[in-house]
Amino acid sequence: MLDIKSLTKAFGRNTAVDAVSFTVDRPAMIGIIGRSGAGKSTLLRMLNRLTDATEGQIVFEGRDVTALKGADKRAWQSDCAMIFQQFNLVPRMDVVSNVLHGTLNRRSTLATMFNLYPEEDIHRAIDILDRLGIAEHAPKRAEALSGGQQQRVAIARAIMQQPKIVLADEPIASLDPMNAQLVMDDLRRIHEEDGRTVIANLHTLDTARRYCDRVIGMLHGRVVFDGTPAQLTTGV
Ligand code: ADP
Ligand code: ADP
Repeated sequence: MLDIKSLTKAFGRNTAVDAVSFTVDRPAMIGIIGRSGAGKSTLLRMLNRLTDATEGQIVFEGRDVTALKGADKRAWQSDCAMIFQQFNLVPRMDVVSNVLHGTLNRRSTLATMFNLYPEEDIHRAIDILDRLGIAEHAPKRAEALSGGQQQRVAIARAIMQQPKIVLADEPIASLDPMNAQLVMDDLRRIHEEDGRTVIANLHTLDTARRYCDRVIGMLHGRVVFDGTPAQLTTGV
């Protein structure tokens, strides 16, 4: 399904991601762990095409997505929607509009200029918010919500794009333990119930162990571990 081949990103002399390869054969919940600077964030940003790889390939369902441009690139970015540590919502915009925002790049210029959304999309956005338990906040400005709620709005925005893969860059690093657990539960459900692949950068091993079926460990831009949480524990 997803085939990452020798993906590399160099910033000048600093090789942030160094020939990373891995394959995802079927929907999975994958945690990427490694200390700060290991290259986790750069890896996800390359997958989502927020940044271009220096070398290597990203192949999704038999198609090379490494060098897509324009509308094709945007379509890929919907297929692998991303969520971030700091949520990246538009703070003054209401929650529903934030959820719908990710669909704008597929609409006409006019629709984009005036934020016009089809009614069915608005219903779908509210359904997604409902499933995440935050529908009551739909009319509020994003900035009025707690961090945990904002991250769930960001998850809703990702789901709205009907992604096959959800990329999460340190999704719980800014949250208190209670909200962190709720957000990880939501990501787990998105994997189990919807059959989506979730790839999450996580800074604690415990979280990866608890929620993921597969753990990829990175050190200095390289993959140094790729296996199940059980293998990680026994050091196999
Ligand atoms: P992690 O997410 O594991 O903390 P990053 O992917 O953020 O790691 O960073 C990996 C390395 O790449 C670090 O040495 C970092 O300083 C460097 N790096 C990341 N982004 C940039 C950038 N835009 N320009 C230059 N260096 C960068
Ligand atoms: P994270 O902790 O999520 O990896 P960072 O704080 O390392 O994020 O980086 C935040 C932003 O700064 C990112 O856009 C990253 O690409 C950029 N960045 C990181 N390291 C460098 C660097 N050495 N030089 C320039 N930009 C960098």
